[in-house]
Amino acid sequence: LPGTLVELLESRLRDIPDFPSPGVVFKDVTPLLADGEAFGAVVADMADRRRGTIDLVVGIEARGFIFGAALAQQLGIGFVPVRKAGKLPGRTRGVSYDLEYGSATIEIHEDSFIGGERVLVVDDVLATGGTAEAACRLLEDGGAEVVAFEAPIELEFLHGRDRLQGRDVHTTLVVR
Ligand code: AMP
Repeated sequence: LPGTLVELLESRLRDIPDFPSPGVVFKDVTPLLADGEAFGAVVADMADRRRGTIDLVVGIEARGFIFGAALAQQLGIGFVPVRKAGKLPGRTRGVSYDLEYGSATIEIHEDSFIGGERVLVVDDVLATGGTAEAACRLLEDGGAEVVAFEAPIELEFLHGRDRLQGRDVHTTLVVR
């Protein structure tokens, strides 16, 4: 494995230009996931930072499920999914938020929280932060306390961090 975690991420990420639409450079984490040692190192780093400070991990569909579920298991705590509208089978609460073109809705099972849980929200990429901000609103309206957000990758030029103020935001590979 290369020296630092940043170097490791750089070496195991693939840039896909013009996906899913022209002008977007998609950060593809599948090479990282396919390397067990590298995937393990990224999850272990998150676990070291968060151990003992959170009660639940919330993952954002879809790649937030992969990192979030691995992390929750490493910490010995539970995992709760936030999904796109219409995917969760039980009774849900949802929140809508604006995208560049149009809007999106995300949902959570309405009985996911007792109230007062310290939650960490996980995704793979922090881009505009619109999705992460909406997830935080959904969780806090449900009685959880969102203490932190983690993503292995941050697209700094989209300023997603500004939308997550008041939470401890950590990313490893910052793309400028
Ligand atoms: P956001 O703009 O922060 O709301 O991002 C929306 C979702 O799309 C997040 O779950 C990100 O993981 C994903 N995403 C946004 N931009 C990229 C990108 N350039 N490469 C890979 N995933 C992305």
